Amino acid sequence: MNDVLIVGAGPAGRALGAECARQGLRVVLVEEHPDRPWRQTFGAWADELPAGVPVAATASVLRAVTTAEHTITRPYSVVDTGRLRDWLTAPDPVVHRGRAVHAIRGAAGTTVRLACGRELSATLVVDASGHHRAPAGHVPAAQTAYGLKLPQERVAELVRPGEALFMDWTQPAATATDWPTFLYGVPLGDGRVLLEETSLARRPGLPLRELRTRLLSRLHARGVRTDDVEVEKVHFPVEQPAHRSAGVPSFGAAAAMTHPSTGYGLATSLELASSAAAAVARSLSAGPAAAENAFRKVVWPAPAKLVHRLRRRGLEAVLAMPPRDVPRFFDAYFKLPEHHQRAYLSGRTDLLGTLHAMSAMFVRADWPVRLRTVLAALDPRVPGAAA
Ligand SMILES: Cc1cc2nc3c(=O)[nH]c(=O)nc-3n(C[C@H](O)[C@H](O)[C@H](O)COP(=O)(O)OP(=O)(O)OC[C@H]3O[C@@H](n4cnc5c(N)ncnc54)[C@H](O)[C@@H]3O)c2cc1C
Repeated sequence: MNDVLIVGAGPAGRALGAECARQGLRVVLVEEHPDRPWRQTFGAWADELPAGVPVAATASVLRAVTTAEHTITRPYSVVDTGRLRDWLTAPDPVVHRGRAVHAIRGAAGTTVRLACGRELSATLVVDASGHHRAPAGHVPAAQTAYGLKLPQERVAELVRPGEALFMDWTQPAATATDWPTFLYGVPLGDGRVLLEETSLARRPGLPLRELRTRLLSRLHARGVRTDDVEVEKVHFPVEQPAHRSAGVPSFGAAAAMTHPSTGYGLATSLELASSAAAAVARSLSAGPAAAENAFRKVVWPAPAKLVHRLRRRGLEAVLAMPPRDVPRFFDAYFKLPEHHQRAYLSGRTDLLGTLHAMSAMFVRADWPVRLRTVLAALDPRVPGAAA
């Protein structure tokens, strides 16, 4: 019997697998597409990434354009996705090719059945299979973006060397709806810059073709050539329907560890992998239930659940906002003292910091924004964390 079986060998599953192996646990991963390359361009605050994570580029200054221009001096990194995969693969855990279709909890552990009929067992099974499909009838809010990887010199006016563009809410000329989107731009470390037209969250996600039209309109208006360049498409839910499976805790996007208001989730998975693996190693000898409890406590401690609820309400407030108010809302956000900004973006277990940041934001916002925030806060339909 294996100690730990992880379903899904994406960044979260691999990070957890590598840390479990470092703890001396016998770990196996089950992955449907083990040879599929990772193509996402992962961005993260440099101070959130664990030491040693391979980085392609770091911008020391970020610009944000709302109704005014703001400068953010918190370094921001773009992860070297190709090297990340190798980095997470050492020490090499066993990866089984296959699709997990069913898990059966027994007294000594859990057995996972693969689509091919094979069965694998472990004392603890963890679901790291990524964002889950929403149940029928539920349309989750999604972040969508359409990006182009352009030579730096073509777009130096938009993303200056050494800098990144966190968000530019100036609206492009061509828009089929008044839903506001922003331009995001990061250096890729290979002489190119990724420019993405981004819809932070919308229910349902803003279609990619609309984002493409907007991005091309923006770039062509500035005379930027867009032929012969690589495309990046982003579409993922920022609200994860509660996924609860007795005996099978989840991790990464499957565990709703993505920040509901921003879509960031990679750094959290990488950072939590070592403490989650250590908790499992300490408790495994006491049996499957003890290991599961220890794991869940590390991944979703009580303060993180409460912070998640607050962030969900922040998401609802943005979703309910009239389009014209959105840039003003972010203007108020970037005027917050840095510690408030940081608490809201990064303080996953910082309940007090998140509350202070949200109340500071409330005080700075104008009355229509305040009213929407209150209505979102009182909405009983906003669920909690999917631990
Ligand atoms: C295009 C894109 C860009 C993103 N950019 C950022 C960013 O810049 N910064 C950030 O912090 N976050 C970002 N995110 C959000 C989040 O960090 C990523 O979605 C991240 O990949 C989540 O990692 P994960 O390992 O939890 O899930 P995934 O990466 O989705 O990995 C899940 C794995 O499980 C496998 N799997 C699924 N079901 C089964 C099954 N039944 N059996 C076996 N295997 C299975 C899948 O094949 C996949 O390999 C982005 C997401 C996307 C989609």
